[in-house]
Amino acid sequence: MNLLGTQPQASIEECAAPGLNRERGQRQVFCGLAGIVWLHRKIQDAFFLVVGSRTCAHLLQSAAGVMIFAEPRFATAILQERDLAGLADCNQELDRVAAEVLQRRPDIRTLFLVGSCPSEVIKLDLAKAAERLSEVYRGRVRVLEYSASGLETTFTQGEDACLRSLVPELPLLPSGERSLLVVGTLPDVVEDQFARLFAELGVGRLNFLPPRQASELPPVGSGTSFLLAQPFLGETARALQARGANRLSAPYPFGVEGTLGWLRSGAAVWEVSDARFEEVTAPAVARAERGLNRHREVLAGKRISFLPDSQLEIPIARFLQRECGMELVEVATPFLDRRLMEAELAWLPADLRLTEGQDVEQQLDRLRSDRPDICVCGLGLANPLEAEGLRTKWSIELVFTPIQGFDQAGDLAELFARPLVREALLRV
Ligand code: SF4
Repeated sequence: MNLLGTQPQASIEECAAPGLNRERGQRQVFCGLAGIVWLHRKIQDAFFLVVGSRTCAHLLQSAAGVMIFAEPRFATAILQERDLAGLADCNQELDRVAAEVLQRRPDIRTLFLVGSCPSEVIKLDLAKAAERLSEVYRGRVRVLEYSASGLETTFTQGEDACLRSLVPELPLLPSGERSLLVVGTLPDVVEDQFARLFAELGVGRLNFLPPRQASELPPVGSGTSFLLAQPFLGETARALQARGANRLSAPYPFGVEGTLGWLRSGAAVWEVSDARFEEVTAPAVARAERGLNRHREVLAGKRISFLPDSQLEIPIARFLQRECGMELVEVATPFLDRRLMEAELAWLPADLRLTEGQDVEQQLDRLRSDRPDICVCGLGLANPLEAEGLRTKWSIELVFTPIQGFDQAGDLAELFARPLVREALLRV
């Protein structure tokens, strides 16, 4: 094993939910390692040690755009051919590499061992390794593990697995107390906006998961209600429910409608009056509407298709159709958890072509015949589709850009307007 990476390297009742087509075939997706890029920026005292191959290291470093002097908080312990052939004791090597990392970075309080395709193929038991290392570093560093392998996952599932691994570590909320927990990585600027809005609404104890410091984990218990800020956190949601927390059903906070519905769901638990809700949200809604107006003109009437990649497809499609006037040609998502999407599905047109899963060749054939004005897809498909004269938007941009909340609604619309404006300029 070698260490790479510490050095440079409208109302919900309006519509009936649409039907669903299921596809099973070859898929074209990124793996869950991509989540480390935004997770390590958010959790500032955590280190992510991927146990993988050179491919994993290259993916991570190119996705994260590592700067030479930045000392990133992630690295890859490279499995060598000897490890893969079962000739070396990977556990000894892993212990050595972990010690090297923690000696070099005394500021680290949580170490995530991150599984990959190679570590899964050789059945390296990272759960046992995390237990062993937890004993060694008890009182100094918490050691957790999760899998981000691309064998059966999409790139946003890495965050779900990471947050899921934190849930058993959350302290217990004292009985008789209540709290609201916002679950899902949000840029700090967006988190601060939501904290201000909930405070003005009079919502009591508010916490975020993940926290900015892994050493400051939020409490959870039967008095906790939680709101998902991202739609791809099904495993984390189930783990929180198993600890007694109550998931609030809500649309996701994209655009004005989604953000209003999401905030209202949290406010309802604290019995905030309609008048107070309106008073607090009205200025932000007005700002969001002004931000959106500039882009509606470009987007209205344009046709859009989503290929399955980020699991953000359904709420983003809902926003583009209902608030920007776009026409949805096809919305495909890697997985559909109807419970987590209940509020969103009710807002989609009943005749929408909604697809779960992927058979990439068939999907590309449909795309070529539909020829939408813009297509949202993974990085690997974007360039070939552009070469065929189709305009594309990388779905991964939706997790790297602040898009939740009122003040980001205009920026979210702009992500889709920009390629269309550019194309119009090139045509002139
Ligand atoms: S798909 Fe598997 S082998 Fe490839 S980078 Fe991701 S975890 Fe590593």
